[in-house]
Amino acid sequence: MNYDDTNIFAKILRKEIPANIVYEDDHTLAFRDVNPRAPHHILVIPKEKYVSFFDYSEKASPQEMQAMNHAIRQVIKDLGLEKNGFRILTNHGEDGGQEVFHYHVHIFGGRPLGPMLTTQ
Ligand code: 5GP
Repeated sequence: MNYDDTNIFAKILRKEIPANIVYEDDHTLAFRDVNPRAPHHILVIPKEKYVSFFDYSEKASPQEMQAMNHAIRQVIKDLGLEKNGFRILTNHGEDGGQEVFHYHVHIFGGRPLGPMLTTQ
């Protein structure tokens, strides 16, 4: 799949639509999910154009990957989630349930998160 510049996170990066930003550096932006599934639900995205983890893990530079890890860690620290715990998740493609085709990592925390997946 080619990267589509009209996706909602590309618009957030271009500041065309607002977001509740919690962290930003040269390579990374983190903001609150508009439909939070936990008291803290943060999306961490690279500023460069990658469709999903699969694309990102093939093409991103070591500096970008280091920045992403740093940003995730910094958000967890800033929100004080390391003591009680948190969950990190990324969705790829149809079976993964991906809705926005700009790579992003979800951070969930602030309550017991229950089982990783429900069996259906
Ligand atoms: P995915 O299913 O692709 O892993 O997750 C996409 C996430 O983006 C969803 O949790 C959804 O609530 C969130 N989202 C969709 N549109 C917006 C938006 O305009 N602003 C923000 N902050 N989050 C959004």
